[in-house]
Amino acid sequence: MDLQGKTIIITGASSGIGAAAAQLFGKAGANLVLGARRAAELESTAQAARNAGANAIILAGDVSEYGYADALVDLARTEFGGLDGAFNNAGIVGDMLAVPDMSIANWDQVIATNLTSAFFAAKAQIPAMLERGSGSIVFTSSFVGVSNGGLAGMGAYAASKAGLVGLVKSLASDHAAAGIRVNALLPGGTVTPMGGEGDADLLAFVADLHPMKRMASAAEIAEVALFLLSGQSSFVTGTAMLADGGISVRLV
Ligand code: NAP
Repeated sequence: MDLQGKTIIITGASSGIGAAAAQLFGKAGANLVLGARRAAELESTAQAARNAGANAIILAGDVSEYGYADALVDLARTEFGGLDGAFNNAGIVGDMLAVPDMSIANWDQVIATNLTSAFFAAKAQIPAMLERGSGSIVFTSSFVGVSNGGLAGMGAYAASKAGLVGLVKSLASDHAAAGIRVNALLPGGTVTPMGGEGDADLLAFVADLHPMKRMASAAEIAEVALFLLSGQSSFVTGTAMLADGGISVRLV
């Protein structure tokens, strides 16, 4: 799967799945525009991608602000001449509490970071892809909120991730005829800082929830994002693609 000469925005690139995607997409020949809030960690991701031969630039910022989504697209235009794809992947879990105990501020922050950011990203990215006449956008959702089982204390996160799937279907339908594909990627438990990296008991608990009896590596999830961004998925749009080790089809 190749992204030779394609310019791709990756958010959440300072860590976990986004950092793994930067390495993989860079090796596949992409020009990378990398985003997240922590500039030093972003620069480490970019440097590793450059060492692997990629063109990579960074812009630190907050995905819950429209101006940041717009600035990432501007950077893709000025540095690389346009935008071909985006892996809108930044996200947070927030406080894990039952709704009566959850603060309104937490609800607002999770929805802004995970869902409103997707509206902002699409609003900024689609016009640039229309200029190109093609494009592919991938949003990182989750099995949480979409699979049959509910997870305790994850109301805000589940709502935000399910909301992404609805948004993707509408975006895909609106822009398919113009050559723009839009898909959601739904990872299962993945070994990253968010996924409990470093906490052996939590990792064992989460691994056991999966029929495969393990969690994904960040690189495995990045491979699915690469597929959705590459020409190999040219007839795929509007999907909620599970890469979850079977957790969504688990019976108990
Ligand atoms: P991670 O290692 O914690 O990475 C999260 C990334 O999002 C970081 O780069 C973080 O960077 C960025 N981010 C968070 N809030 C941001 C904001 N307001 N503005 C800009 N960037 C922001 O977690 P991960 O597991 O790789 O998560 C990536 C995506 O996968 C998330 O959307 C998550 O919900 C989803 N996911 C993860 C799992 C799992 O088990 N790990 C499972 C299903 C889905 P900064 O802190 O530098 O801003």
